[in-house]
Order: sequence, then structure tokens, then C-alpha cells
Amino acid sequence: MKTKQFEPVYSLDLKEQYQKHKDEINSAVLAVFERTSFILGPEVKELEEKTAKYLNTGFSIGVASGTDALHLALRALDIGPGDEVITTPFTFFATSEVIGIVGATPVFVDVDTKTFNIDPEKIEKAITSKTKAILVVHLYGQSADMDPIMKIAQKHKITVIEDCAQSFGSDYKGRKTGSIGSLGCYSFFPTKNLGAYGDGGLVTTSDKALAEKVNKLRVHGSAGMGSYYYEMLGLNSRLDTIQAAVLLVKLKYIDEWNRKRREIAMKYNKKLKGLPVETPFEAPDRNHIYHQYTLKVEKRDELMEYLKEKGIHARIYYPMSLHLQHIYKELGFKKGDLPNSEMLQESVLSLPMYPELQDDKIEYVTQNINDFYSKV
Ligand SMILES: *Cc1c(COP(=O)(O)O)cnc(C)c1O
Repeated sequence: MKTKQFEPVYSLDLKEQYQKHKDEINSAVLAVFERTSFILGPEVKELEEKTAKYLNTGFSIGVASGTDALHLALRALDIGPGDEVITTPFTFFATSEVIGIVGATPVFVDVDTKTFNIDPEKIEKAITSKTKAILVVHLYGQSADMDPIMKIAQKHKITVIEDCAQSFGSDYKGRKTGSIGSLGCYSFFPTKNLGAYGDGGLVTTSDKALAEKVNKLRVHGSAGMGSYYYEMLGLNSRLDTIQAAVLLVKLKYIDEWNRKRREIAMKYNKKLKGLPVETPFEAPDRNHIYHQYTLKVEKRDELMEYLKEKGIHARIYYPMSLHLQHIYKELGFKKGDLPNSEMLQESVLSLPMYPELQDDKIEYVTQNINDFYSKV
């Protein structure tokens, strides 16, 4: 079959979505300009209420980024020097970075090769008297296996924090990610499935005391803007009102967009059948929202290069497992210590994925993957 040469297929294209919702987004942003209530304006409060309702958490607090959401969650739990936090090595650096920023130590536990998420069976062996929390990541938009993780946490009286930066709207046994552990942390970085037009983040919790603490921590540890009495050392970390205005528009479409991501994933699955690639595993009790559509493939780097020549941008999330990063050399890990994560860093490839991705582009991508494997 002859393949037609298209314009480049980007891993993500935000332009189409903006063009489609331009009027709505522009007027929402201009309304903020008119009102000039730039910091913690009414849009932030409205977004907090709507996300709390959508995610079914008692509280939701808008912060400056996903990284800050994680940072403030750890601070709210008083995690600091001498403490250990169990997490996955197969994630974006921010997940473990914040553990170090508060002075605690990340303890990396290997992942399950099917779901790419932390393997609950390996967690208990990593728990010590210093363990304060398990920081779970729902990678690529599919929930980690939360029931056994919550059970272990309850047994050892430690807290669970969810990094939901890639999983807005995804669920586990009918419950939204971010509503299962003590705190959920979201990112609105523009490339996330619910992305703002700049940086932004959200902390969710159903614990009133934790919510109040995060609320204070984002305004320098004070009772709020305009209070000049300080109870703790905090941060300047608010969700920008302009970003909240954009997100209020986008929140209306998130279910539709997540559904489209799933449809695209099913099309990819179908068209890649029979090729030497492993399509994403979907646990039956979870709603995978395909923040990324990630294959495990042979000859990964050659395939990526081949696709690039054809104008197809596939990406590697993530090329180096965190336990092997130079910054963690003092933790004493060596190659082979977390074999699953290391295997994945060599074999994962994420194909273009965004709700507006058209069938002709899906066809072009899969046809070229087919061509590559028929040549090698
Ligand atoms: C994007 C991301 C973050 C960080 O979010 P920012 O908003 O960029 O600070 C943290 N964890 C994971 C898993 C992410 O994908």
C-alpha cells in the first residue's frame, strides 16, 4: 500500500483546539483583564469548586504548577529531613525532585512492566521506620493499583499521595484518581490532558486540616492574601487567575477529550495488530485516559529515527530511570537494581496523541511503523 506524505505529525498539537474554542477562551481571558483581579480572582475559586466536585474530593486548591502541588502536599504532611518517601523511578523528575527539596529521601521501588506504575508487591519490602508516605504516579493516564497500595499504607500508618499530573479524569474502580490517597496533585502544564496556557497546578484532598494547610502554604504560610501574620514558612504558589479562566472553559470538554483519546488508542491498537510492538495494557478496573499512548517496541531508537524521517514525532517518556540519574548517585543504585524500569527506558515509545488527531494521520503513523518492521 502506498502511503501519502503528510505535513508533520506532531506528538501533540494545541493549535487546532485553540482555533475551535477561540472565542470562548479569548472572552474568558479578557474578562480577567477587565476585572484586574489577577491573583486569586473569582475564576480560581470557581475552578477549585468545580474540580473538587468533578474529582469528588472535598477540597481543591489551585497552585502555581504540578511541581508545587507535590511540594506543598509534602509540606502539608510535615515531611522533611530524616524522612523517606517511597516512589516510582519511572516518572518525570519532579515527582522525586520535590522529595529532595523538602529534605527527605526518595526510595525508588520498581514498576510493573504492564501498567508502567509502581508494583504494589514490591512496596512493603521498602518500608522502614523512616517511611512517611508513598508517592504514587498514575503514569500515561492509567491509575496505579490503588487498593493494595492503600492497604499497605493503612497497615504501616503511612500516607499516600497521588501524582495525577497525567491522569485528570481517569479513574480506578469508579473513583477518580486524586480522590483515593490523602492528597492528589495535578499539573496544568500546557501539554497535560487538561492543560492551561502557561503553568498551573492543583492539590486535592478530602481532609479539611490538610486543605487549610495547603491554602496557607501557597500564600507564605499566612491566613490568606492581605494577612500579614505568618504561621509557617510557605511559598508564593497560586494558580494564576488567567489560567483558571482558560481551565474553566477547558474543564467543560475534558470528558469528551478523554473519550477521544481512548478512541484514538483503540484505532492505534487495531492498526498495530500483528506487528512486533506491544500495545498498551488496560487494566479492566480502570479508565485509562491515554495521556500518552505508549508502546513497548524492539529496535526503538531505529524506529523513532525512521518515523522522524517521515515527519512523525514519537517521543520517549522517559529515557533514563530516575534511580540511575547522576543526581541520585549517593543513593547507591547500580544498573540492574530496578530491572523493570530499566527495561522500559530502553523500549518505550509514545506515539502522537491528542484529541484532535485525525484518522489519516493515525493511518500514516501506523503504516510507517508497519513499513519499518517489514524492512528490518
Ligand atoms: C508534568 C509532571 C509533573 C510536573 O508538573 P509541572 O506542572 O510541570 O510542574 C509532575 N509529575 C508528573 C508525572 C508529570 O508528568
